[in-house]
Amino acid sequence: MIDLHAHTTKSDGTDSPLTLVKKAASSGITVLGVTDHDSTAGWQEAIDSLHGSLQLALGAEVSCLTEDGISVHMLGLLFDGDNQPLQQLLSDARDTRIPRMKKMIENLQGAGYEITLEDVQAATPDGATVGRPHLADALVEKKIVKSRDEAFADILNNDSPFYVSHFAPTPEDSIRAIRAAGGVAVIAHPFASRRGQILTPDSFASLVAAGLNGIEVFHRDQSEDERSQLLVIAHELELAVTGSSDYHGTGKLNELGENTTSPAEWERLEAMADQRRVVQR
Ligand code: AMP
Ligand code: ZN
Ligand code: FE
Ligand code: FE
Repeated sequence: MIDLHAHTTKSDGTDSPLTLVKKAASSGITVLGVTDHDSTAGWQEAIDSLHGSLQLALGAEVSCLTEDGISVHMLGLLFDGDNQPLQQLLSDARDTRIPRMKKMIENLQGAGYEITLEDVQAATPDGATVGRPHLADALVEKKIVKSRDEAFADILNNDSPFYVSHFAPTPEDSIRAIRAAGGVAVIAHPFASRRGQILTPDSFASLVAAGLNGIEVFHRDQSEDERSQLLVIAHELELAVTGSSDYHGTGKLNELGENTTSPAEWERLEAMADQRRVVQR
């Protein structure tokens, strides 16, 4: 089972890289993507925790914004972790999340919610990319909501009046940076309409021109109809097709391996990286 998209405590997942690797190995995953939001901070611990025949496809999920302000997540896999321009892009993306978090907290305080930046910091693991799920955890801790899901449904979703976006590279810029670092770029859950505004089908041409390699089609936030549309686009544009869990530990219902990538599609994607970068013991 090939699962190319999972989060750890280095962003908004609740399992450490060590725990994630152990769980993946014991649940029959053969290739695991470690893809924290805007960060490669979990790579080394994941590598050090490797055992058995599990292979790692190390990567990151880059937060992007189109010029029209649509939020897009770009998975970069198999890139050189020492590539400075890409690390700079990730670090810029992380930095803009802090003032953004402050603004969201101010919006909530303005509406009478008793929540502070310190509460959110207390809910954020050391070295993690801070995000709305940590704000959700702080709201749970304060007994304002019962779960991350409830926090997103009622307060933190993209359409909520408290929502603030943060500066982020365009999808094209992040694709170019990932490819220049030797990796492959797969657009994550592009038609997950339940999360907010999504790309239009004709915007894929410009992503392909920038070097896009694949589309994440099989993902729990995409309906059957959305998956079918994406399969047509992937076929027309000769893009690889992936499926993945987007596992977040207990932070979400997503289970490791609930959606997977076929070995043939993985082979195709892996061949598009500039060298063999899968990590194996
Ligand atoms: P941010 O990057 O700070 O904008 O937060 C986005 C993160 O929130 C993504 O990783 C999503 O996985 C997570 N998220 C979105 N909707 C939900 C939800 N309903 N429950 C839990 N997490 C969610
Ligand atoms: Zn996440
Ligand atoms: Fe995502
Ligand atoms: Fe994700």
